[in-house]
Amino acid sequence: MEIASLFQKKKVVFSLEIFPPKKTSSIDTIYKTLDDLKELQPDFISVTYGAGGNAADNSTCDIASTILNTYGIVPLAHLTCVNNTKEEIGLILDRLKENGVKNILALRGDINPDIPAKKEFSYASELVQYIKNRGEFYISGACYPEGHVEAENIEKDIENLKIKVDAGVGHLISQLFFDNDLFYNFLEKVRKAGVKVPIQAGIMPVINKAQIERMVTLCGASLPSKFTKMMQRFEHSPEAIREAGIAYAVDQIVDLISQGVDGIHLYTMNNPYVARRISESIKGIINA
Ligand code: FAD
Repeated sequence: MEIASLFQKKKVVFSLEIFPPKKTSSIDTIYKTLDDLKELQPDFISVTYGAGGNAADNSTCDIASTILNTYGIVPLAHLTCVNNTKEEIGLILDRLKENGVKNILALRGDINPDIPAKKEFSYASELVQYIKNRGEFYISGACYPEGHVEAENIEKDIENLKIKVDAGVGHLISQLFFDNDLFYNFLEKVRKAGVKVPIQAGIMPVINKAQIERMVTLCGASLPSKFTKMMQRFEHSPEAIREAGIAYAVDQIVDLISQGVDGIHLYTMNNPYVARRISESIKGIINA
């Protein structure tokens, strides 16, 4: 099923993101996570693709295939291109097709100074074009409510986003954010620029201080004072910070749904307990 078509059927599309277990853990740990996440009845589950972009590692494809063929849920396989050749991407696409995985989140991937880029793809829009030419997949893309960290400014980033969407993206998922007003301002600009595809808001429940420090360094999300005060107030207690983080995420989601958001994409960090708590809190309103 094409993910973009879900937005015509549901008021709010609700999805979850997981990542393959680290190389040091068994792949089986993900099945326990999926057993729990399945009960939340997400509209789809996305699986990240290793930051190193190693074409020899098939875990994203294998997990996406399990989500579809064992759990009966639509999978969205992430795929980055900056560290892969066209031939390597072609092989990954062949494997996804053989496993029945039809939805791909086409990404450039982060530039890692320690890994020389293969230079066959420079931007996600080129990967979108490459996948589109095969005519076998549905394509989603990423967007950045505060602008991508490398972009000159938000306007330039939205111009580039339009190029990517016009290349064949049917649906977008946003980077995480903690201030809904930033997302609403972004939506206004993006719609004005002529980007018409559904846009899901990416929400990450923050449940410990180390996580937020890592996230902010990686993606540059700004933290409203309401949020930093909350973290400072509860940082002495892991339980309190988790509860406050869940409440903050629920609050963000309720506001987004009230404002008519197309969908919510929950970055679960492979934590089914937190995903369940959030899912239960919004169950009564998500498609009311
Ligand atoms: P692009 O859309 O190519 O944009 C990258 C930069 O290039 C932007 O600054 C943009 O403005 C600029 N740009 C784009 N096109 C042009 C052009 N034609 N000319 C000039 N400049 C241009 N990373 C992983 O490694 N694995 C994952 O699984 C993963 N999943 C993600 C999921 C989501 C929802 C999001 C938001 C991000 C994810 N990332 C993942 C991170 C992502 O790979 C990085 O943010 C990366 O730096 C940018 O990828 P992109 O696809 O958005 O790139």
